[in-house]
Amino acid sequence: MAVLKLANVSKAYSNTKILNNINFECENELISLLGPSGCGKTTCLRTIAGFEIPSNGKIFLNGNDITNIPPNKRNIGMVFQSYALFPHLNVYENVAYGLKIKKLKKNEIKEKVKDALNMVNLEGFENYNINELSGGMQQRVAVARALVIEPEVLLLDEPLSNLDAKLRIKMRRELKKLQRDLDIPSIYVTHDQEEALTISDRIGVMNNGKIEQLDRPENIYTYPK
Ligand code: ADP
Ligand code: ADP
Repeated sequence: MAVLKLANVSKAYSNTKILNNINFECENELISLLGPSGCGKTTCLRTIAGFEIPSNGKIFLNGNDITNIPPNKRNIGMVFQSYALFPHLNVYENVAYGLKIKKLKKNEIKEKVKDALNMVNLEGFENYNINELSGGMQQRVAVARALVIEPEVLLLDEPLSNLDAKLRIKMRRELKKLQRDLDIPSIYVTHDQEEALTISDRIGVMNNGKIEQLDRPENIYTYPK
């Protein structure tokens, strides 16, 4: 069982605390960070990915302190809200990009890209241009790119927010199934309560840079009797 742990993680810009003493452990489960815009969700993900260094506190992966390890050495896959795909590269090249940078052998890259595209049901789309694809398919490419490095942790930052309502519900199911199959610590940022309730093993309710409650979906809300 893998464990991602945040211990007393705080992040401040000048004098403003964006993350205020975040503490949680994520095992092979999907934890959503749910909260209003500006509460620090993305900053929390970026800190886990290594794009931000905490002002205080530490991040551990399987007991190893990764707080100061650069993002490309963390083996963490991240899917961005905007997908952040390269429009001038085709599907294959977008997914292969990170592996090329790591200077893997061509055959190895082909094999891994094939596996990643299979996982998101995009086999056969290798040579499509990004702008020929629907929003849902672009989102799948972004997920494949995160998976191709065989990450130990998966981070998803509002991955469905650019999709229409119907597709969002379909992709929600796909992502949930994928996460179950991968069985790695996964953090999912959203401001959509229903999304968090349906996709999560646990929900961390964030406000003002703090996680105010972390619990299973059925324990997050109390309903009038
Ligand atoms: P959320 O993802 O919950 O919408 P963010 O983590 O994006 O929240 O942002 C939390 C707060 O931190 C916002 O007020 C934002 O303006 C601020 N913030 C984020 N990044 C920076 C930065 N690099 N410098 C200064 N302030 C930032
Ligand atoms: P180079 O490193 O010289 O760019 P690549 O092998 O990465 O060469 O890819 C060259 C082209 O071949 C790319 O445009 C890519 O789309 C295509 N390509 C490579 N492998 C596959 C594959 N397995 N399936 C489909 N297209 C592929």
